Amino acid sequence: MQEAFVELTCPNCDKLWEEDANYMPDPDESFVCPDCSTERSASVFARTERDLEVLQQL
Ligand SMILES: [Zn+2]
Repeated sequence: MQEAFVELTCPNCDKLWEEDANYMPDPDESFVCPDCSTERSASVFARTERDLEVLQQL
C-alpha cells in the first residue's frame, strides 16, 4: 500500500491537519470533520490542488 499523506482543512472550523490518504473516502464521498462534525464531500477538505490529486489517485 502506497503511503500518502494529504493536508486537509475544514471549510467550517478552519482545522488544519494531515491524514493518511489510504484511510480517506473517495473525493465525491462524504467526510465528517473530526472537530466540528461538518459533513461535506471529501474533496472539499483537500487543502491544495496537490492534496486533491492524491485523494483522486487512491
Ligand atoms: Zn471542522
